[in-house]
Amino acid sequence: MKILCAAYPCGFAVGANTLHEQRLNDNNMELLERFLKYVAFDTQSDENSETFPSTDKQKVLLSHLAEEMKALGMTEVEMDAYGYVMGTIPATNGCESKPVIGFISHVDTSPDMSGKGVKPQIIKNYDGSDIKLNDSVMMTVAEFPELSFFKGHTLITTDGTTLLGADDKAGVAEIMSAAEYLMSHPEVRHGKIRIGFTPDEEIGRGVDYFDVKRFGAQYAYTMDGGFEGELEYENFNAAGARFEVQGKNIHPGSAKDKMKNALQIVCEINSMLPPVQRPEHTEGYEGFYHLIGISGGVEKAESSYIIRDHDRARFEQKKAFAQDVADFLNRKYGDGTVKLVLKDQYYNMREMVEPHPEVIDRAVEAMRMAGVEPLIKPIRGGTDGSRLSYMGLPCPNLFTGGMNFHGKFEYASLDTMRKAMQTIINLAGLWAK
Ligand SMILES: [Zn+2]
Repeated sequence: MKILCAAYPCGFAVGANTLHEQRLNDNNMELLERFLKYVAFDTQSDENSETFPSTDKQKVLLSHLAEEMKALGMTEVEMDAYGYVMGTIPATNGCESKPVIGFISHVDTSPDMSGKGVKPQIIKNYDGSDIKLNDSVMMTVAEFPELSFFKGHTLITTDGTTLLGADDKAGVAEIMSAAEYLMSHPEVRHGKIRIGFTPDEEIGRGVDYFDVKRFGAQYAYTMDGGFEGELEYENFNAAGARFEVQGKNIHPGSAKDKMKNALQIVCEINSMLPPVQRPEHTEGYEGFYHLIGISGGVEKAESSYIIRDHDRARFEQKKAFAQDVADFLNRKYGDGTVKLVLKDQYYNMREMVEPHPEVIDRAVEAMRMAGVEPLIKPIRGGTDGSRLSYMGLPCPNLFTGGMNFHGKFEYASLDTMRKAMQTIINLAGLWAK
């Protein structure tokens, strides 16, 4: 397949770009080496920690990245007190006034499985069959049918005892390799580009202290998606709902017409929320109420839910209905029986991204130039990008080529990673047009 150069002024015309192709192939090696280097760092985050970043070991990779950025000749490279690393690929001559765009990845790996002592296995020219990770762990096509897409690719898998860390070191490696390419190819014209690496994404704190102003980009892209072509700019609107129930405990032998059992009322609340609107019965754009905890006894009990919906109006309706349930039960059992505490958590970034259609249009174009067909789909969750979008930095999420995140079946396609890296280079060029 031909590799398209983002910025034609660099002088290598499409179809006659043998030299250029050769260079990108060299970069491909570089990309694999980088990726293998980064997954060797144990950077697991810890949701039970109260420090930021949650684990010190993340800073080891973060400061390594800062050094690497300096060695590439990038400017304004710094790691702040929280561990955020930022750096600049300066604009090429004449492109100083073009929009500043950013690329962001997280360095931590999921608390779900160890990321220590990762022993990657490389499968060249994957034949499309089941993959033996070790003597007792097989990754089968029956269980993971999307494997067949990667026939002929170079795959990187685990040895079945750890996660791989492609989430999100694939993104980190793609950004760094694209940065190296841009720094050494000044003929590829682009505006100022900001690079950001963050800790603690996996525990939901990734942008808690991210200084959007200091980052100084007009638009950014998180490189944190999976399958080739993923382009995400819609996520859930999210709220937490806690029903606090005050019962009245009376000895059960003399409870008739007097007892109010808080646990029974908690069950009643759950029975009033529509059973079809649960995660196990919903997909695509369907929202839900998800029961995540019940605690208490007869006298006092509470139940917690998360409420999700892509559509803001339906999201508000879901919250209003939860309030109706509480109000109804207060009429039935007496005021003060049920107290509902609702707290919004994050919102759908679509509202923030849609006023800037060029952010999506250019991502689509950059992917097509890299030979990738964009797959636009809603995220059934949230991303750092959704929070950044509400902090004033519209920030869709792009594919990295990593798959089966957070467990021993995680793998990555080097061919897809290369296309992600190419997409970054293409985007740099397109924003300078
Ligand atoms: Zn991730």
